[in-house]
Amino acid sequence: MEILYQSTRDPLAKKVTASQAILQGLSPDGGLYVPTQIPIIETPLIELAKLSYQELAFKILKPYLNDFSTQELQTCLAAAYGNNFDNPAIAPLTEHAGAFYLELFHGPTIAFKDLALQLLPQLMITAAHKNQLEKEIVILTATSGDTGKAAMAGFADVPGTKIIVFYPKKGVSPVQEKQMLTQTGNNTFVLGIDGNFDQAQTNVKKIFNDQSFKQQLDLNGYQFSSANSINIGRLLPQIVYYFYAYSQLLTAGKIKAGDKINFSVPTGNFGDILAGYYAKQMGLPIKKLICASNKNHVLTDFFNSGTYDRKRPFYVTSSPSMDILVSSNLERLLYYLSDKNSETTRHLMEQLQEDGRYRITAAMQAKLADFAAGFADEQQTATEIKRIFKIDATAVDPHTAVASNVAQPWLTTAPTVIIATASPYKFPQVVWSALTDSAASKGTQKTLAQLKNLIKVPYPPAIEMLLTTTSRAKQTLAPEKMKSAIENILFDD
Ligand SMILES: *Cc1c(COP(=O)(O)O)cnc(C)c1O
Repeated sequence: MEILYQSTRDPLAKKVTASQAILQGLSPDGGLYVPTQIPIIETPLIELAKLSYQELAFKILKPYLNDFSTQELQTCLAAAYGNNFDNPAIAPLTEHAGAFYLELFHGPTIAFKDLALQLLPQLMITAAHKNQLEKEIVILTATSGDTGKAAMAGFADVPGTKIIVFYPKKGVSPVQEKQMLTQTGNNTFVLGIDGNFDQAQTNVKKIFNDQSFKQQLDLNGYQFSSANSINIGRLLPQIVYYFYAYSQLLTAGKIKAGDKINFSVPTGNFGDILAGYYAKQMGLPIKKLICASNKNHVLTDFFNSGTYDRKRPFYVTSSPSMDILVSSNLERLLYYLSDKNSETTRHLMEQLQEDGRYRITAAMQAKLADFAAGFADEQQTATEIKRIFKIDATAVDPHTAVASNVAQPWLTTAPTVIIATASPYKFPQVVWSALTDSAASKGTQKTLAQLKNLIKVPYPPAIEMLLTTTSRAKQTLAPEKMKSAIENILFDD
């Protein structure tokens, strides 16, 4: 049976092809697209372990992207996963202090978002071609720090596209901000907002669903799409590296085919860990998917109590890409927990919108057994960075440290892979302070140099580039002004 895509919220909404779902980003009823079924991988794990990253990606993604031809998908994959990564393995697995770390920071923006966002633009232009789309695609993106840069890097100068990024001006690290402000490409726009990520994301979703604005865009020859993980084309590529981690453990003789393993995932918008959930449904032997949060532990509380409650203080932490109180991909999980019941899913999302909270039924809660959840506060995060460095001189970034700390009680239950989502050089101030118990010096460049001296890892190309490129002027605005900012970019020539 061919896989199509349907909304999480409306069972009667028209089902669309993979390429249409990718182009649209969000379903017109406000729901998220999900595949009509999750394919089972029939190839034995031991055979999968012989494949390169690109070959494995083809194997995993082809059933989902069935309106892309073999040739088209292979071309997209070759463009996405090549010399733009500074490690030929693309996502190498390393071992430190009794756990495995899947390094997803070898791409052009040194965070895991590259694994999906180097491929998404390729898929999107192929999809535009396939659907004879004549309009220009405008990618609207809210970022907690890493998606913005990775999406701009992926879409820069891609013909037929523009990308507009909104980030919380006080909620990203200095390197994250500089990375965005040094992005080249005449089709890239980046704006800071006086607010947090949730406000940026909520407004982006609102703008997406604004019907009169949609018409105005249409008249001007534009169509919106999304590079956030609400876009299924962003989520699917992330399934690949769960299988790839397993392959590497098999090849290294650390496990036998069929052994169950744990993954600990530093979680914000619930996209990365949801890809792990898909991998499990596809047949990957996963024991626990450990959902790791920082001081904004709305997800830990949800997993432990069955109640999601976003009405709580919001903290800016040392792991900013996880400073999120409304995790948009949880909607897809709710859909599965309710046995694909769109009514239930829509109802819960409406409650979240109206009351700021919802509670799932006992039957849904029972299905959360695939997951475990925990959080690390600021002190625990810093201590974890220091602990790993002491044991084997490896520095991890604060997001990875959160996942590593939360994983500790699970290490004895099965081989455990921690998803290492960013390079320590992306957060030099935090890593330096954690390793030396002292405040970082003023100036990112100096801190980077000190950190390099201490951890003895060469700068990745992204950092070299950052140090030699001048920033564009920083623009900021109130969250209510996001729509008019978009109008200025698109309509005022
Ligand atoms: C985006 C991000 C996360 C969170 O991933 P989600 O898919 O939003 O849950 C964790 N760590 C880093 C470094 C990130 O950039």
